[in-house]
Amino acid sequence: MTLTDLTFDNRFVAELPADPSDLNRPRQVHRAAYSLVAPTPTSKPKLLALSAEVASELGLSADDLKSEEFLEVVTGNRVLDGMSPHAMAYGGHQFGNWAGQLGDGRAINLGELVIPDGTRRTLQLKGAGPTPYSRSADGLAVLRSSVREFLCSEAMFHLGVSTTRALSLSLTGDEVMRDMLYDGHPALEKGAVVCRVAPTFIRFGNFEIFSSRNELDELRALANFVISEYYPHLWPQDGEPTPETYVAFFDEVAQRTVEMIIDWQRVGFVHGVMNTDNMSILGLTIDYGPYGWLENFDPGWTPNTTDSQHKRYRYGNQPGVAQWNLGRLANALYPLIEDVEPLQATIDNYVDNFVSGYRKMISAKLGLNELSDDQEPVVTELQSILEAAETDMTLFFRGLAEVPLTAQSTDDELLAPLQNAYYVAEQVTPELRARTLAWLSDYKAIAEAQGVRDADRAELMNKTNPLYVLRNYLSQLAIDAADAGDYSEIEELLDTLRNPYTEQPGRERFAEKRPDWARTRVGCSMLSCSS
Ligand code: AMP
Ligand code: MG
Repeated sequence: MTLTDLTFDNRFVAELPADPSDLNRPRQVHRAAYSLVAPTPTSKPKLLALSAEVASELGLSADDLKSEEFLEVVTGNRVLDGMSPHAMAYGGHQFGNWAGQLGDGRAINLGELVIPDGTRRTLQLKGAGPTPYSRSADGLAVLRSSVREFLCSEAMFHLGVSTTRALSLSLTGDEVMRDMLYDGHPALEKGAVVCRVAPTFIRFGNFEIFSSRNELDELRALANFVISEYYPHLWPQDGEPTPETYVAFFDEVAQRTVEMIIDWQRVGFVHGVMNTDNMSILGLTIDYGPYGWLENFDPGWTPNTTDSQHKRYRYGNQPGVAQWNLGRLANALYPLIEDVEPLQATIDNYVDNFVSGYRKMISAKLGLNELSDDQEPVVTELQSILEAAETDMTLFFRGLAEVPLTAQSTDDELLAPLQNAYYVAEQVTPELRARTLAWLSDYKAIAEAQGVRDADRAELMNKTNPLYVLRNYLSQLAIDAADAGDYSEIEELLDTLRNPYTEQPGRERFAEKRPDWARTRVGCSMLSCSS
């Protein structure tokens, strides 16, 4: 098979209203779901990394991936027959405020590829040049943010978190000007492009833009399109969707969103910019910008310096923000339903769904069968212990799996597997030791009551708690190496993250807690939206 044999079925473009203008200048686009726009050619493209799993899912062969044509396609230099490049129109609430039209300002969907299993995947170039939605920006992306997007999409997939995917990471050969810290020091950086892959990149914001402008025919067309393509089981057997169909649709989006957020909390992922334009209608993690991974457990932490004042998108606030965002989606869908009550019921249910899903998730993190309401204090005390001293969340849970609960053990033997998780030895005071031992004793009592043996507990825990996560400093080391022309670190990191739950001898350096130098370094603990 050659690339030219690929079949595209561009239903989004075929079924939804197009922008009648082909003027590629920043402008307001009305009554349209997208604008047709081609990627900007790049001067000296170079492929840096590939996801073999995504390539194989798409049905691309090893020869395809090595071809000049492939490189051209994933870097914006060639549009294949059957593709229909376009930028999507959407709006969004940014940091709690309605921001009006946003849209794909630097992402261009090439088309919907029909893959071997008969379903379709949208191929999207991020950093492919300006579109009518670029506003005052250049439509480009830099190497550092592209490495981060590429690695994190794949890391999340292998962790079992629902996400958009990344097929390839390439340099464009062009330079891009960025003021990385927004402090008046712009500099040239290497331009890059990621080819992203998802069933669709439609966001809450695609609905919001139509609703905000009272473009109700377009709103209905979009909702019908999403339901028929991605939630077909909700489509009524005998006719068109009714208000009840849209309510059921909203309910499923909410359910998928809850599941995604619980997974984020499980692995310690902080998105960083949970604006409604970054919320997928399929409940996929989307738009990897200034995201970060919890190192020391701190619910108040956000990696995003642009959000450092209010910390709206901090780890501990992600569940609440997702609910707020669902409220914005409910508002956007309201004209199709004209009844607040069922939408409100879903929003209210979100809390119960989250609480029960979260409880299940935590009991798996602890290797237990379940946790009952009256065992909730065990969860809150654990969180409080984790915060009492700087404690690496990832290493703590892996260590906890090794704690000998069922054997006769001394206090030192019980605590030994946890020592590696602490950042500052002096913070492990006699008081914290005593609290931790008391907590372990409660934990042991629950495990015993459930008949959970240490070996089974460890097995469940090590399937739930990753050993390898995309630590912020690890990305930065891979970026530094890539910037200097060495791409092997990206490869090695990606390969490690393919099996995040399995100990990989020789790869200990990817499972180490953040070194001291990374505590305050830009790119490691602090990231801006500049990308
Ligand atoms: P984000 O919050 O990073 O997902 O982006 C918010 C909005 O800004 C989206 O509409 C993006 O397409 C747009 N945007 C971000 N960076 C650029 C850029 N370099 N050029 C054009 N548009 C951009
Ligand atoms: Mg975005």
